Amino acid sequence: MKSTQLIIALTKGRILDEVLPLFEQANIVPAEDISKSRKLIFDTNLSNVKLLVIRGTDVPTYVEFGSADMGVVGKDLLLEHGDEGFYEPLDLKIAKCRLMTAGPVNAKPVQGRLKVATKFTNIAKKYFAEQGQQIDLIKLNGALELAPAMGLADSIVDIVDTGKTLEANGLEPKELIAHVSSRIIVNKASMKIKNSLISDVLQQLRDAVDNN
Ligand code: AMP
Repeated sequence: MKSTQLIIALTKGRILDEVLPLFEQANIVPAEDISKSRKLIFDTNLSNVKLLVIRGTDVPTYVEFGSADMGVVGKDLLLEHGDEGFYEPLDLKIAKCRLMTAGPVNAKPVQGRLKVATKFTNIAKKYFAEQGQQIDLIKLNGALELAPAMGLADSIVDIVDTGKTLEANGLEPKELIAHVSSRIIVNKASMKIKNSLISDVLQQLRDAVDNN
């Protein structure tokens, strides 16, 4: 990777709709419409900046190993991945939501071990350990809201925005684990080697966040 070139990994999906306008304000614009393309890597208006568009869970991995210099990823995925392998210099204050426990409406308290279904297994382990609650962890990759109704779990740990998904499935939010928003992460070596380029991009993004 050339030291004059910056690779920024973005999270594909709904978060892109909030990230791209912010990047545009920071003068980083993809050369083509990302939503209409099957490509995974995009040129931008800046000859030395390229965008990768990958799954959110993979963004910390790409940045930690230096295959991307910077990344945009939700705090939920950073907490799950572990946030030691990179710097986290900027909160973009977009794609805000909450990581919460949730369970059936008016459920009776469970005696003994709690069955918890989630894709955020590290976060759930840590959270319930801190509460002194013993759990059986059930890893699911989607449709978590189904687990309590099907008897698979007493409780879930999931992202909540409006709460409508929970409500539609007979669940209610219980305890707040963390507030979530999208963050910029930076590879530690890139921060040194490409400092002036990264500082410029961070400042442009910081200004865009302040004006948002
Ligand atoms: P809601 O029904 O508005 O509470 O949205 C809940 C669902 O939308 C969750 O199960 C998530 O999968 C998804 N979601 C909402 N906001 C975000 C976000 N900022 N980042 C990732 N997923 C989200």
